[in-house]
Amino acid sequence: MNNKVRIVLVNTSHPGNIGGAARAMKNMGLDRLYLVSPKIFPSEEAISRASGATDLLEKAVVVETLEEAIADCQLVVGTSARERHIPWPLVDPRQAADLVYKEGLETALVFGREDRGLTNEELQRCHYHVHIPSIESFSSLNLAAAVQVLSYELRMKSLLAIGDTTVQSKWDVPAASVEQVDYMLEHLEKVMLLTEFLDPNTPRQVMTRFRRLFQRAQLDQHEVGMLRGVLTSIEKLK
Ligand code: SAH
Repeated sequence: MNNKVRIVLVNTSHPGNIGGAARAMKNMGLDRLYLVSPKIFPSEEAISRASGATDLLEKAVVVETLEEAIADCQLVVGTSARERHIPWPLVDPRQAADLVYKEGLETALVFGREDRGLTNEELQRCHYHVHIPSIESFSSLNLAAAVQVLSYELRMKSLLAIGDTTVQSKWDVPAASVEQVDYMLEHLEKVMLLTEFLDPNTPRQVMTRFRRLFQRAQLDQHEVGMLRGVLTSIEKLK
């Protein structure tokens, strides 16, 4: 899906920001950069800030107007650091990434000038506006940093789509099953009765609290095995 997304930078003043944006994009698997009348391009500064993303700079499409950059797009999302006069459909970066994925349309994410953002006219060319929820008193991010935030959200969406985001899925040991945790809790109860930590006449809240504790921990199979081993070693002492 990311190959349907282009990043459009309008009238960028500092070539370093173009390089920074290219790097941010490449880190997150995006590679289509459009530059609308950049002040200075190509430039050494852009190449140096791009680090290894010079390929994106080399194939960047340079055009005169925003219209040219978005003519063949089906969805245009403009970024804005502050609220504008006429309210427009407004989303946050995560919702913007949702839209891009849900619709699967040829999409442009449009970024404005460092000093004054996008003009009202340019913003009105966009179907949606996206605002990164920065604090009101200091709301404007560096251009390349804003590109990073949007690209990151797109990356998270594409990872989610292939089910590859969770740390859990890269865990070295499989998660314990309900049954394995239940057996461990039964074992724990038996040992606590044996050691007289648990009084058979007390309410069973203790076991409920232990269950809550171990469920919160989301034990893996190795951890359940270790706990069972400790319990068995206590049984042997008795
Ligand atoms: N002073 C300008 C800010 C420009 S910052 C203004 O008031 O609009 C340069 C560009 O970075 C913006 O045009 C936008 O594309 C992006 N950007 C910076 N901060 C942002 C934010 N909080 N939300 C969305 N985009 C932002």
